[in-house]
Amino acid sequence: MAAEPILSVRGLRTHFATRDGVVRAVDGVSFDVTAGRTLGIVGESGCGKSVMTRSILRIVDPPGRIVEGSITLRFRDGRAPVELTALRDDGPEIRAIRGKEIALIFQEPMASFSQYYTVGDQIIEAIRLHSDLDAKQARARAIAMLRQVGIPSAERRVDEYPFQLSGGLRQRVMIAMALACGPRILIADEPTTALDVTTQAQVLDLLRELRDREGLSIIIITHDMGVIAEMADDVVVMYLGRAVETGPVDAIFHDPKHPYTQALLRSIPSVDATPRSRLATMPGAIPHPLNRPPGCPFHPRCDRAKPGLCDRDMPEAVSLGEGREVACVLYGGAA
Ligand code: SF4
Repeated sequence: MAAEPILSVRGLRTHFATRDGVVRAVDGVSFDVTAGRTLGIVGESGCGKSVMTRSILRIVDPPGRIVEGSITLRFRDGRAPVELTALRDDGPEIRAIRGKEIALIFQEPMASFSQYYTVGDQIIEAIRLHSDLDAKQARARAIAMLRQVGIPSAERRVDEYPFQLSGGLRQRVMIAMALACGPRILIADEPTTALDVTTQAQVLDLLRELRDREGLSIIIITHDMGVIAEMADDVVVMYLGRAVETGPVDAIFHDPKHPYTQALLRSIPSVDATPRSRLATMPGAIPHPLNRPPGCPFHPRCDRAKPGLCDRDMPEAVSLGEGREVACVLYGGAA
């Protein structure tokens, strides 16, 4: 029997009511996160993947609001599951969950650090917020965390300021800070986009190691199918706030069903490509969220669109078996 997911998102809609209209940033997305596995959420910028993760942590800035759906967090110790959408977004319940159960790291670590405090002070503060360790114990734990994420000379680095560290070390410190309170789910939002290729590979290695060693579940958000190939066990492909295809990574790479997934995969550089061969690019651009096309949101860019059908009806997700779902009329997903 498949393990019960620790986080289940069902039919989530997060909308922004602006002066110019309603932006449906997340518009009916469902997925599960299982213990010890990595879920990759992939799509171009503006597809709603970051709003999706901010919705889970209830840190969507106004005028954004969850208007529908559920986010259920389950615990290992027998506590009753918590429905995160029912919590006040600044209340004590969700604050106890942020960091302690679900932690977030993102692209630019500098934005999450104060420049006026050492990295040690900042990790210690995070530890003491969620535990009853005294200052000395928390410092020892901070040093242990820095060692765990591969920071050399952790006893010295703990007293350095963020600006004294390289981009790769800062990203490792941010991971240490995120893991300091022992969360079960780590959300990594474009964690390697700002890094050079070598450092990128090292950070992905570290995340994989933490998943395997600590049994951590990871949600990785990226625009890069290469990162998905390296990291993910399961994938959600998003386009304009909708999940257009979901399933296990091998099945999706081996036999992508949705025309958008197929186009994303064509745009990955191949190792056999000759230096002169050109990378396939997707026609057109992602539409402005306020000008969402009617019907299937991908139809203006889809080379298999059926006029009179795809530009009229929003396709519903249909199950293809073996944990796969696709929202496209080619597979019977007519609304
Ligand atoms: Fe293309 Fe139509 Fe499928 Fe949308 S529903 S992806 S437009 S074939």
